Amino acid sequence: MSSTNLKKRGGVEKRRPDLDTLYSVNADGSRNMLHPADVKGRWQVRVNLFWGVLLLIYAGLPWIQIGGHPAVHFDIPGREAHLFGISFTNQDFYLMFFVLTGIGFALFSITALFGRVWCGFACPQTVFMEGVFRRIERWIEGPRNARIRRNAGPWNFDKVWRKGLKNGIYVFLVLLITNIFLSYFIPVRELIRVIPEGPGEHMAAFGWMLFFSVIGFINFAWFREQTCLIICPYGRLQSALVDEDTIVIGYDGRRGEPRSLRKDEGGDCIDCFRCVEVCPTGVDIRNGLQMECVGCTRCIDACDDVMRKIGKPEGLVRYDSRRAFETGERKSFLRPRLFVYLFFGLLGLTVATVTVSRRATFQANVLRARGMPYTIADGRIRNLLNLHLQNKQDRPMVLKIEPETETAGQVEFLIPQPRVQLEPMQDLEFPVFAYVDQDNYHGAFTAALVVSDSLSGDSKRLEITFRGP
Ligand code: SF4
Ligand code: SF4
Repeated sequence: MSSTNLKKRGGVEKRRPDLDTLYSVNADGSRNMLHPADVKGRWQVRVNLFWGVLLLIYAGLPWIQIGGHPAVHFDIPGREAHLFGISFTNQDFYLMFFVLTGIGFALFSITALFGRVWCGFACPQTVFMEGVFRRIERWIEGPRNARIRRNAGPWNFDKVWRKGLKNGIYVFLVLLITNIFLSYFIPVRELIRVIPEGPGEHMAAFGWMLFFSVIGFINFAWFREQTCLIICPYGRLQSALVDEDTIVIGYDGRRGEPRSLRKDEGGDCIDCFRCVEVCPTGVDIRNGLQMECVGCTRCIDACDDVMRKIGKPEGLVRYDSRRAFETGERKSFLRPRLFVYLFFGLLGLTVATVTVSRRATFQANVLRARGMPYTIADGRIRNLLNLHLQNKQDRPMVLKIEPETETAGQVEFLIPQPRVQLEPMQDLEFPVFAYVDQDNYHGAFTAALVVSDSLSGDSKRLEITFRGP
């Protein structure tokens, strides 16, 4: 560790966050466990309200029924997905490209405008870590200094019961979260029915639940902010997405420097270290915008509180552009890169929406059966075909299959099921025979079947090439 980040504080030399090292890792590679202090303020009220709404949404979505399915449901064995009343089959998978492109570029636009608001406000890792798990830790183990003292001290009754209770609640919560996660794949009523039955026939689902619970516990109890700092690629990506006019959380060095412990001397920063103590990722925001900053707003509230106490204006740490922090100048946030991101974001989402709205109500394909392309018997040439039908609606449908009028005279179709009843999302495959008298066959030609759904009026023409000797 360089000596530059070792500073004397209260007569004791302490490590301070810097731009060259990860504060959550010690010089010898061991973990420097962070103990962010509690903080109150207007941003914490907003963030907590937002997290509360998000937690309700995460837990509530599987319970809401739209069109006979949960609002969000991924049926992996059935190769179906149901999103807010729209059903998708595996054949609609290509739509994910447009949806993900749209969402990705929408996120890029938001990042170019407001930095890491996603990380600080909406990412499930932050919502659960800061909104749930650290909160429980503070309730049980007390404020920052008490936690640091207890952790450094010997194991005694006080330490055992607090750690035991905290980890017991953590185990309960990760099991709850994993089961909520599972309810996006197994309908919640079915999940509630099978949980008391134990693993039994549901070994695979139980195994996944256990696996994710263990990962969740390790993440929330120990790995914590390291997930954002080491594993998540989005933090690294953001440096390419933000520019000097992006609104980020920063420190106004022009106003704060030179730091002085005497409030009537130097800049407004009294070097109280409070903004660093509350930071869940160990960032000193006064060193400038850093990849480790997840935009949680805690340092804004911490510094505003200090400013109020020393009778200075709030906003030494605040949301503003880097240009404004450095020069005091503010430019319009409408920049070329923003339009590029918005264009691609809207393009992806528009293509996905239009494609979904114009999707046929059913899927129909006809393929030549494997083996001989034709057979001859009793003076007739026969082609064997396989017809595949799939209902893509959440209602039963009856499909009518008939030869196309134009080719009806040339070829005779034998359709074992000219009217097929399909249950919601059901798919069915059955053979269809096409016959031509040998005397009338003068070479391969195209014929067609028409499949129609009388209720929606959708129809599909299926071409086949009739082959003979
Ligand atoms: S909380 Fe404000 S005054 Fe205290 S060290 Fe941070 S920036 Fe300076
Ligand atoms: S620097 Fe401030 S906004 Fe960034 S993670 Fe730390 S406390 Fe949150």
